Amino acid sequence: MDAVPELVDIPSHPPERFESVLEPEPFKRLADGIRSSRELLDDRVVWHVNSTAKGGGVVELLRALLGYALGAGVDTRWAVIHGEPEFFRVTKRIHNNLHGFEGDGGPLGDAEREAYEGALRDNAQDLAGAVQAQDVVFLHDPQTAGMVAPTKETGATVIWRCHVGLDVPNALARRAWGFLEPYVRQADAYVFSRRAFAWEGLDGDKINVIAPSIDAFSPKNQMLDAGTVTAVLAAAGIVDGADPSGATFARGDGSEARVEHTVELFEDRRLGPEDRIVLQVSRWDRLKDPSGVIEGFAEQGAVQTGAHLVYAGPAVDAVSDDPEGAEVLEESIALRERLPEQSRRHIHLVALPMDDGEENAVIVNALQRQAAVVVQKSLAEGFGLTVAEAMWKARPVIGSRVGGIQDQIVDGESGVLVDPHDLEAYGRAVRELLEDAGRAERMGRAAQQRVRDGFLGARSLLDYLDLIRRLLR
Ligand code: UDP
Repeated sequence: MDAVPELVDIPSHPPERFESVLEPEPFKRLADGIRSSRELLDDRVVWHVNSTAKGGGVVELLRALLGYALGAGVDTRWAVIHGEPEFFRVTKRIHNNLHGFEGDGGPLGDAEREAYEGALRDNAQDLAGAVQAQDVVFLHDPQTAGMVAPTKETGATVIWRCHVGLDVPNALARRAWGFLEPYVRQADAYVFSRRAFAWEGLDGDKINVIAPSIDAFSPKNQMLDAGTVTAVLAAAGIVDGADPSGATFARGDGSEARVEHTVELFEDRRLGPEDRIVLQVSRWDRLKDPSGVIEGFAEQGAVQTGAHLVYAGPAVDAVSDDPEGAEVLEESIALRERLPEQSRRHIHLVALPMDDGEENAVIVNALQRQAAVVVQKSLAEGFGLTVAEAMWKARPVIGSRVGGIQDQIVDGESGVLVDPHDLEAYGRAVRELLEDAGRAERMGRAAQQRVRDGFLGARSLLDYLDLIRRLLR
């Protein structure tokens, strides 16, 4: 029997839902776009292929998008590739290099190419066995770029979707481009998150820019009232002294669920429901700068405001395409332990349960809603979905002036942008927002409007349908 690609279950959502969050004009544009795509996509499958079904922005993004594509009548499938640890070591290196960082410092030579191509051969074969000539295939990120050519052989239209990049390329980024380019250039189109991320030397006619988006109705972003927020945080074990009995949420398929798994905590003192929280939610990844987040908070006067820093990331054994997670969590724990007691008491590291993706999401949702200030102090960032997520919840966000964060936050209006290496500026921005509730609230409201205007799933669904229509015409 032929092997088949591993498919992720996608709950279907009616795009009509967007009527409650969009203004009339954009909602009409969405309805028109869906209508004009339907016939063209009638007998075609639109495939999305990436390297994990758990953890990180691409997963989040695919969830936000694919359910609505299904609901719009597009036969949509999500396949996940598999690979040995060596493959993911190489692709993590490429990922870091594309962001301008050396990662584990290893080479990208013939041996790496062999490991990369070897791992993708089986995956490409499985996929090709399922794809038909009239289909459209989106291959996401460096992990799948090597599948472009074999997938093209099926006759399908193949698009490479790159979610990472840096504003000013350096030698490491160019090295990673050099590694990937022979694969990528054979695609029918490329999609980048920002214009600045499009590589030099690619065919300009094939370059498209589509900014990511969030799903306003998912467990990650659905409305939670204040009582539910506290209950979810209590049930997950993040907050002490509150009643966990109302810790319920709506799953993607509409059923009601309850938070049952608890977090792992690295802290000296329990948080209470009244504590003010400064939050960063990120994978345990050096590009998210956990040590800068912790040190800047401890040393730049934020502790004196009485607020508590919460850095929350996934339980580390769970994100299979991220081999550095455990090491970075260990480093963060060690750094926290070296701090003076007074600071340490205000710093909480939280490893979130990953047993159930939707439960994990609702815990993140509750944390974001509970936070007085949200930070995203990344050293590099393709887009930074956590920024849009917090902005949608009307939180004031302090983000680094890198990558797609700059497209989301208008500095001083819908958030604050700081130089990623300026810990003093980061600490000051945190203090100022904690001390000026009026400004924090105004910024939060502007942030929510900005996401409504540009970063909800309706907009990217339309962008993708437009792109598919152009390519099939
Ligand atoms: N996330 C999560 N649980 C975690 C850590 C992160 O659900 O423990 C989510 C986060 O809410 C966001 C995504 O993972 O939706 C991260 O996307 P982002 O673009 O911010 O960064 P990436 O991980 O893709 O670099």
